[in-house]
Amino acid sequence: MGLSMSLVPRLYLECKVCSQSMEDHASDCPQGRLDQVIQNERSGKCPICLGKTQINKGDFWECRKCKTQFCGGAIVPGMAPRAKRNFHEMESGEDFIRVVELPDKGHGKFKIDEMIAFFREEIKRVKRSRRHRR
Ligand SMILES: [Zn+2]
Ligand SMILES: [Zn+2]
Repeated sequence: MGLSMSLVPRLYLECKVCSQSMEDHASDCPQGRLDQVIQNERSGKCPICLGKTQINKGDFWECRKCKTQFCGGAIVPGMAPRAKRNFHEMESGEDFIRVVELPDKGHGKFKIDEMIAFFREEIKRVKRSRRHRR
């Protein structure tokens, strides 16, 4: 009798893509990879307009609002002469990153968007093939 009291019901969510637990996806599960990408997403606050900055395809920080690009940490040597030499402190999570403003605006091509789109396609593909198998 006492036994049933100690059995705390645990919420077990099954992943619709890999059929494993939502907490422990199969290593190649695109849903698991997507969750990881979103979890590890790096973003900051634009020091100019306070918009959201993320890493773009050129490996620079780019503001989603004003499109200003920033180079974080050590300046890439070839970029230095062209950089405006406007230094800023950019807030990113708990940290402040020292960044330099670049003269060219970005094109709104973010790595994270591309990865999310890729894994979403993979999820669709896996779901579709599973449906056919039944
Ligand atoms: Zn999964
Ligand atoms: Zn901005």
